[in-house]
Order: sequence, then structure tokens, then C-alpha cells
Amino acid sequence: MRAEVIAIGDELTTGQRLDTNSQWLSQRLTEMGVSVAYHTTIGDELDDNINAFRAAIERADVVVITGGLGPTADDLTREALAAAVNVELVRDEPSLRRIEQLFQSRGRTMPSRNVVQADFPKGAVPITNPHGTAPGIELHVPREGRTACLLFALPGVPAEMYEMWEATVTPQIAKLQPEPRVIRHRRIKCFGVGESQLEAMLPDLIRRDREPRVGITVSDAVITLRITAAEKDEATCFAAMAPTEATIREALGNLVYGQEDDELEDVVVRALQAKGLTIAVAEWATEGLVGEWLKRASGNSGVFLASSVVDSLQQIPSLPADSEPNGSATATALAEGVRQTTSADIGLGIAAFPAIRDTADAHVCAAIALPERTRKLRFRCASHPSIMRTRTARQALNAVRLALLSGFDTT
Ligand code: ATP
Repeated sequence: MRAEVIAIGDELTTGQRLDTNSQWLSQRLTEMGVSVAYHTTIGDELDDNINAFRAAIERADVVVITGGLGPTADDLTREALAAAVNVELVRDEPSLRRIEQLFQSRGRTMPSRNVVQADFPKGAVPITNPHGTAPGIELHVPREGRTACLLFALPGVPAEMYEMWEATVTPQIAKLQPEPRVIRHRRIKCFGVGESQLEAMLPDLIRRDREPRVGITVSDAVITLRITAAEKDEATCFAAMAPTEATIREALGNLVYGQEDDELEDVVVRALQAKGLTIAVAEWATEGLVGEWLKRASGNSGVFLASSVVDSLQQIPSLPADSEPNGSATATALAEGVRQTTSADIGLGIAAFPAIRDTADAHVCAAIALPERTRKLRFRCASHPSIMRTRTARQALNAVRLALLSGFDTT
């Protein structure tokens, strides 16, 4: 069973408002095991609405429309729906009375234009709106040689839409499912190689026809593998995903740093806590980003001691004035300096970006200082300038994570 979600309104197509209703509706449909095949957004144009409704009825078994049910001339859902399925609009007296009562209960007279909110395409069932004037519409549209398309039109006001969805739409969709299925996801978070390199390491897992399905997305150098299973209940979904997850972990080893909402800093803080260690950071290229992340992740755990941001060699007294701001000596002085001044177990130092960053051999230098020794690191700079700072911060945190994993401790 495939669904389509349609959001209506010029405020959406002009970019003035983000269409969060479609996101919410898709999450609810997915949870019920209905896969959402299309999202459509349309402005307030009658012909565009009619065409979009006709296309949706053809290609989807369930269509959920949000918006366009208000009383004004640009609220076209009722009219467009009637035209799309070639029926007339008929007034529903009980709905009209309910709208009048709603105005009365608010001490107001119903404006005459609100009457149209009681008009429905012939054959439709009104969906009660307990807190608004716009009733929703349920319509079964027959299709030749196939099951009917089940269509719902709900108001655009999010709170009204949520309430009507739960009370009326969910039970109707559930009735259509011969064997109700639930869909669950598992996200495996990876860092350290490019997307295509990572995909090549996976034994034929990323195929459309595979069950459970595995998808791959990248955001600011973090690669997420999303496993999806559709089964009769949640426990069966997770059981079906377990072998795939094990295969991924086995194939990728330490490139997997966490799961679900884990960020690298969360994992680093957990590892430091487990070992009873503390960390402090001195940053130049990353301008305090690593410190900010570690501070958020560590909360009151006491793992993260301090961060400092430097932007000139004068702020690093242990270095000669003619040192390279982006050199390894700078990173080392920052790491060792912050470790000594804060008495942290681990000092992380990140030097400046090189002056020219878009050459193949451009590197950022970093260092991890321990009481006995300092580990020197170099990260490639080859990425878009807009994500360079974030990527470098993640590379530094990942280096700390790998160092902690390799048994590196302070003794
Ligand atoms: P209704 O069908 O309830 O009359 P409408 O489309 O006429 O809805 P508007 O009057 O345009 O609704 O909007 C009502 C409120 O709902 C506004 O705050 C609007 O931004 C919000 N809204 C409408 N559609 C969406 C959407 N798809 N996602 C998020 N908010 C929305």
C-alpha cells in the first residue's frame, strides 16, 4: 500500500513557511507500515490542485492532503477535489450547524463566507474538527480494476490536523491493512572515509530489493547507514535487522563510531568516563567548536575541563615568534600547554588552517598530549570551505576516539 502526502498553500511554495505537516504525516504513515511514495506541494491555483489530486489518486492507494480548507477565496481543496473526481459540491447541514455553534460558543456571528466550509464533494464523509471551523474530508475514489483510493483532506493548522488524524484517519487506514506491519529503523554512524569508499567495503548491502533495506546518507563527513525493516511488530523488526547490523559492524570495524543520535563527542565523552580520564582543548582552526561540542556532551560529568581559542602566535609563549601557525609544533605546543595549565589527563591541540587550503597536500595539524608523550596528527583539508571547520573538529575528535580505543592511556 503506497501513500502520497499533499501540502497546499502559497506560503509553502514561496518558501515563507516550512512544510512540517508533510513530515509529520509521513512519520505517522510510516509507523503504521504504509510506505510514502510521494510528497507533493502545490500553491493556491485551482488547476494545479485538480491535476495534482488526479495524479495522486492514480498512483497512490492512500492520499492525505493538508491545507486549503479555510473559508477564503484561496482555499481551494473542496472545489478542486470535487472537480478532480467529477462530482458536485453539496452542503452538509450538520457540518454547517456545527460551524455556526463554534462561532456562537466564541460569542461571534458566523461570517457568511464560512458557509462554504460545510460544502463537500458528493459522496464524501465529513471529518469532525473539534477545535476549528474547517471540517476534514474523507473520500473513497473508485478506480477501474483496482481497489478504491482512500483520500483524506485535513486542515493546515498543525494542532487541528494532528487531533483529527489520531481520532479519524488512523482507524480508517488501519482497517485497510490485511496484515498490519510496523516499520522500524536503525542508524549506524560512521566516520573516517568517503561515502563511496565505505560503500565499497560493504558486501552488496546497499540494494533497493534487499530486505532489510540499507540506505546511506552523508552529512558534514558523518556517514549514516540506515537499516529499515517492515514486520508484524517492533521486536520482529529489530530481530530482522540484527544480522545486517552485525555484517556492517564486522565489515567496517572502527569506522563505526556509534548509533542513532550519537555524535563523535558523545562517544568520546563516554569513553573518557569509562576510563576515568579528563580532557582539555586548545583550538585555532576550529575556533572553539570542539570545546563547545565536548561541553554539551559532557554535561556535569567533569570529563571536559576547559577549552581555549587562540588566533595568534603571541598567545603561545612556548613557541618562537617565527613558527608556522599551521605547523605541527604549534599543535604540539597547544596540546601540551592546555594539558599542563588545566591538569587534564589529555590535551588536544589544533593548529591554524594552512594559508592555501585547496591544494591536494593541504593539511591541518593537531596533537594529543599525554603525560609521557604527544601524538602528532595531520588531517587532509580537502573539503568545501563551508564544512572545513566542522570536518576538522570531527577529525580531531575521531583521533581522540581511536586513540582511546587503541588502549592509549595515561600511564
Ligand atoms: P485550513 O485548511 O486549516 O484552513 P489553510 O491551508 O487554509 O488551512 P492557512 O490559513 O494557510 O491554512 O494556515 C493556517 C496555519 O497552519 C498557518 O500558521 C500555516 O502556516 C500553518 N500551516 C499550513 N500548512 C502547513 C504545513 N504544511 N506545514 C506547517 N504548517 C502549516
